Amino acid sequence: MTHTIHPDYEVIVIGAGVAGIYQIKCLVDLGVTATVLDAAADLGGTWYGNRYPGARFDSESYTYGYSFSQELLNEWHWKERFSSQPENLRYLNYVADKFDLRKHMQFSCRVEAAHFDETDTLWRLQVADGRALTCRFLMMAFGLLSVPTVPRYPGMETFKGRAFHTFFWPHESVELAGKKVAVIGTGATGIQVIAEIADKVGELTVFQRRPNWSAPLNNGPISEEEMADILSRYEAIFAPCARQPGGFEHEPDRRGFYAVSREERVALWDRLYDEPGFGIWLRNFREIFTDEAANAEFSAYIAARIRQRVTDPAVAEKLIPQDHGFGVQRVPLETHYFEAYNRDNVHLVDLSETPIERVTATGLRTSERDYAFDIIVYATGFDAITGAFDRIDIRGVGGTRLRDTWHDGPSTYLGIFVHGFPNMFMPAGPQSGSASTNYPRGIESGVNWCTGLLTYLWTHGYLRAEATREAEEGWTTHVRQMYSTMLMRKAQSWFTGYNSNVEGHEHGTIRYLVYNGGSPKYVATLKEVAEKGYAGIALTAGPTSAAPGHGAQDTYEQR
Ligand code: NAP
Repeated sequence: MTHTIHPDYEVIVIGAGVAGIYQIKCLVDLGVTATVLDAAADLGGTWYGNRYPGARFDSESYTYGYSFSQELLNEWHWKERFSSQPENLRYLNYVADKFDLRKHMQFSCRVEAAHFDETDTLWRLQVADGRALTCRFLMMAFGLLSVPTVPRYPGMETFKGRAFHTFFWPHESVELAGKKVAVIGTGATGIQVIAEIADKVGELTVFQRRPNWSAPLNNGPISEEEMADILSRYEAIFAPCARQPGGFEHEPDRRGFYAVSREERVALWDRLYDEPGFGIWLRNFREIFTDEAANAEFSAYIAARIRQRVTDPAVAEKLIPQDHGFGVQRVPLETHYFEAYNRDNVHLVDLSETPIERVTATGLRTSERDYAFDIIVYATGFDAITGAFDRIDIRGVGGTRLRDTWHDGPSTYLGIFVHGFPNMFMPAGPQSGSASTNYPRGIESGVNWCTGLLTYLWTHGYLRAEATREAEEGWTTHVRQMYSTMLMRKAQSWFTGYNSNVEGHEHGTIRYLVYNGGSPKYVATLKEVAEKGYAGIALTAGPTSAAPGHGAQDTYEQR
């Protein structure tokens, strides 16, 4: 039997955020027929969604921009050291417009299913608008934190005021003046929004279950002169980012925690506390991440700082984490967060003492009393990293569901491939280096590597790429081992797959979601795999040459 295959696209990219934008740029440059599908009404991913007051980078802005185009680097002037959401969204739009990428993107386009068709070596996608689309290669670029989750309180639908997750903060401005506002959650998002709205609302009540360690962001404007200086040394800025495990410019103090005196340690910490960004976490002694005693000493230092900043000692104690050390969970950075609790209109409710029992028509009921609110803000986090995969009916060889394969946690090769799901690429997937890195630095490596492999397939006439079972097992074992030395393995955090609002993700079931070996090691591994002819990936040739999809060229004969 002979039949001719015409996929609609050679490549479909799902997700028009930071990763998807760069991925489509690479594909367009290659002249491949490709499109981006995104469920949102416009591009930007994280920066399209999170419009809550206070949303901003905690990466230095100039390390967050794409590095692939010198012209782009020269043209874009960051205004703040840690740029805010509106500016970040403007940046991504600027990139898309500059490279004329928007015409390759389709919005309000939710992919409901993606099934691998073994006979035709195609992915068949079902879109919520009723369309069926096909592609040879499928790129999952939907981000790590794109599926917001809310608590499972009874009565949520009965509340008569406004209620929204921070990811869905309304696009039009929300009247806050004089309003009684509840914020539930004190992760990185809660900490940003609480600090920003404390002096803009009537009354603010924060519902905190567990506090997070947090330290000052120390943001500031970037002047024209400073920006001119940054422009002149982008190479020198990106070089340390490439050398550091987290992809930031911060380099750890290599003296050794125990090699210096307590006074010297405190002198370093005093300096770091006043410096901008993640220095307090990443310029610190490396033992902070692995040694319980070193971590405890540093945590006590930060606790003392919190006590200095919060007037009411009882409130200060509630804001100091007791169940984990500093940096074991992802550290939120803050701007006057602790001082917010010194205001008369800000109240802290400790849910470990008085849990929320239900949402009522007028507000929230804890085990102690009823609270009345005009607005309830859920800053309650995300079904991180695998959540977006779980929400699409993805089926590979033999109809196997990815959701079932990953029921107890993901298993991947390089965080990019899954055995049994050929031609499905995850440029920043679970267990990839990108998932635990200053994101754009990470995704550029991931996208470049995926694009390199696609080019290799097209050049050599391969139609199908699939990780071997052995390669996947090897990588997943390695990822698990990397957790074993890190204190963070014990954390109740999205890095370990914890989410109290998602069934099966509650505390106690660790999921190995990120690669902890650091970006340089990860990038070196990717390079080595490519140099070995893509070791660990079974490549299968088509019946005739699989030329890249330039319209009619992506046709092949199958017998
Ligand atoms: P998160 O870190 O998961 O924090 C969620 C918060 O909500 C936690 O305090 C959690 O308490 C609380 N919570 C969840 N369910 C609850 C419930 N049913 N009842 C009471 N409290 C509940 O989420 P996030 O703050 O959105 O941050 C997620 C990640 O996004 C960050 O780690 C960071 O990587 C990224 N982010 C980055 C920035 C930035 O500056 N660039 C800003 C915001 C977010 P428990 O801990 O007790 O579960």
